[in-house]
Amino acid sequence: MSSFKKQDPEIYSIINDETIRQENELQMIASENYASKAVMDVVGSVLTNKYAEGYPNKRYYGGCEFVDKAEDLAIQRAKDLFGAEAVNVQPHSGAQANMAVFLGFLSPGDTVLGMSLDHGGHLSHGSKVNFSGRVYNSISYGVKEDSFLIDYDQIEDLALKHKPKLIIAGWSSYPRDLDYSKFKEIADKSGSLLLADIAHPSGLIAAELYSNPVPHCDFVTTTTHKTLRGPRGGMIMMKEEHAKIINSRVFPGTQGGPLMNTIAAKAVAFKEALDPSFKEYQSQVLKNSRLLAELLIENGFDCITGGTDTHLVLLDLRKSGVTGKEAEQALSKAGITTNKNAIPFDPQPPAIASGVRIGTPGVTTRGMKEDEIRIIANLISKSVKNFNDSNILDSCKKEVNELCSRFPIYSDLID
Ligand SMILES: *Cc1c(COP(=O)(O)O)cnc(C)c1O
Repeated sequence: MSSFKKQDPEIYSIINDETIRQENELQMIASENYASKAVMDVVGSVLTNKYAEGYPNKRYYGGCEFVDKAEDLAIQRAKDLFGAEAVNVQPHSGAQANMAVFLGFLSPGDTVLGMSLDHGGHLSHGSKVNFSGRVYNSISYGVKEDSFLIDYDQIEDLALKHKPKLIIAGWSSYPRDLDYSKFKEIADKSGSLLLADIAHPSGLIAAELYSNPVPHCDFVTTTTHKTLRGPRGGMIMMKEEHAKIINSRVFPGTQGGPLMNTIAAKAVAFKEALDPSFKEYQSQVLKNSRLLAELLIENGFDCITGGTDTHLVLLDLRKSGVTGKEAEQALSKAGITTNKNAIPFDPQPPAIASGVRIGTPGVTTRGMKEDEIRIIANLISKSVKNFNDSNILDSCKKEVNELCSRFPIYSDLID
């Protein structure tokens, strides 16, 4: 890193400060993780210089003989990891992966049925502020008011009534498994295509700890930087019959040149995920989140659905006398980074929210296990309950820093 310290001291010091933040505090945003140094090295490699519009062996530029091999490897490893028939590793992000599916199989004004953002869906599943809700006629399903579990009867009713071109199964904050075969049954009845967006649980799916939608769906999109722990980016898996259209909608439909450095780093991350140690990692992620939910409940908090099958816990703060915003700020002062999150049927506006989403992928990558989760659960409880007490928050932060110092991750990158 020091190679550019003299050349650009401002950016150098910003990166150094960010490295210290990631090192010394507990990163518990459910969509974040710590990528390996191998992944980060490859993102910072000379592959960033290469233009490679097109696909392996069908490029619009010369000199692609080496990057072709990297993309082929990324594709093959992704197929091995998820059992996919065909894969496109070029999407720059999860939202762009979804965009390519929409553009490939829907015309403007066509109907799409996705999970409501308010209930845990994603912006790119038909939100009015996103292309998916602006260009297409979006209808949404949600969770049941009593159990906070997905309401498959509602999905079926909506699907039969509106006959959507596309149904989307996927979430950004839903702590339970999905029944993809049920989604498929509904999609068949309504004559809809089925997309599963596994941006969040893809690492758990690769480790066979969460249901795999690939056999049931026309398309499966994901990010590569959340539980999958690769570089920031997206990917599309699909039935072979859809590959030609999807590939043409990624490039030239929505993107120009692929990020070959990122694609090679995806290949590195997939290799890591194919290693047996990744399964151990993901199973610890799950043990940690389940224990965290249990301990927070013991400490008097409510968790949406009463626990979790995933890497995330959604705290319901309605009974705690604290808003999501206040809890996020208090936790941040205590050195624990999370995000406020709407809970289903939230009485608060999204900028305040009644929930906090807490994820265990990052701390588990650092090597933290049950003993540390016990400490973390206490620190979270203490910080949220004393959200206005800066002395208590300061002392929690010292404990957080101490805990982090016992589980170094990027300490050798700090100047
Ligand atoms: C995070 C997420 C995305 C978007 O990924 P970006 O890389 O931020 O564009 C898409 N879908 C779901 C369900 C997500 O959780």
